[in-house]
Amino acid sequence: AAKAAGKNQFSYFTESMDEKAHAKLSLSTELRQAIAKGQLFLHFQPVVHLRDGHILKAEALLRWRHPRLGMIEPSRFIPVAEESGMMGPIGDWVFREAATCAKRWSECTGTIFQIAVNKSPVQFMPRCLESDWLGYLQELELPGESLVIEITEGMLLNPAPSVTSKLLQYRDAGIQVAIDDFGTGYSSMSYLHQFHIDYLKIDRSFVHDIATNPVHRTIAETIIVMAHKLGLSVIAEGIETRTQKEILQQAGCDYGQGFYFSHPVPEEQLTRMLASRPTTPGHRDPPG
Ligand code: C2E
Ligand code: MG
Ligand code: MG
Ligand code: MG
Repeated sequence: AAKAAGKNQFSYFTESMDEKAHAKLSLSTELRQAIAKGQLFLHFQPVVHLRDGHILKAEALLRWRHPRLGMIEPSRFIPVAEESGMMGPIGDWVFREAATCAKRWSECTGTIFQIAVNKSPVQFMPRCLESDWLGYLQELELPGESLVIEITEGMLLNPAPSVTSKLLQYRDAGIQVAIDDFGTGYSSMSYLHQFHIDYLKIDRSFVHDIATNPVHRTIAETIIVMAHKLGLSVIAEGIETRTQKEILQQAGCDYGQGFYFSHPVPEEQLTRMLASRPTTPGHRDPPG
């Protein structure tokens, strides 16, 4: 019986591998057309001041409304896009869409409203044909300060020349840079002073059990102290409860993002949130 089961398992395994490969292939074919067919769209998740809950900015998160499969998560299709050479055009689409929204929200709030855009390592490679982002900002008459680029720390360990030069371009244009999922990667912090980084985003794996896991709490507190000493601001990701928020606030964390404040929402919904819960114009951080 064990043998038969083993055999069945084996054939099931190969079949599912086949299916997986096939599903991936058809996904990449469909993804190729998704932009033209208007199936991609952005959701926006507010980043708030922990002190008063006011919205500081928003992160753009990509969504794919697939005609048969419904909503597909970025964790499923971003890797497909990266492997099949589509991250360039898709990243361009995300940037342009996000910049257009930043323009609209800056006009309606009367201040610069920042949008954070995720950028994966392949988007920094020379062979990734990317349109001229800085040129597009100029076209929109949008200051560089309207944009934050979120990258992961792995990229900065042994940075390719294309990474270094792009980050310099961003700095010169006033575009800010955030290190996403901070603490999960290589934990080499030596790169932090080599580049012009503005924000560290504490990964949500440290936040989700911060109330019960003293090690994670210590790591989060240490990241906050270190970041502030280096002159960086800190955003905690994945805050889902009031307790998590309070612990982070007590630890001196500047900003937060997570379901406790708001899920990622469609553009119109963020517009309504901004109207009813305005950002703080002329906001200043407390002294110290
Ligand atoms: P990320 O940049 O770290 O984005 C945060 C993720 O955490 C989002 O997942 C968001 O929906 C989720 N999240 C936010 N608050 C909470 C919370 O309180 N609890 C929990 N459990 N999750 C929370 P999402 O939208 O599925 O995106 C996953 C990842 O896909 C992103 O991680 C980012 O790395 C990547 N991604 C998304 N959009 C883009 C894009 O336009 N370009 C690129 N290159 N990558 C993208
Ligand atoms: Mg991000
Ligand atoms: Mg993150
Ligand atoms: Mg993440």
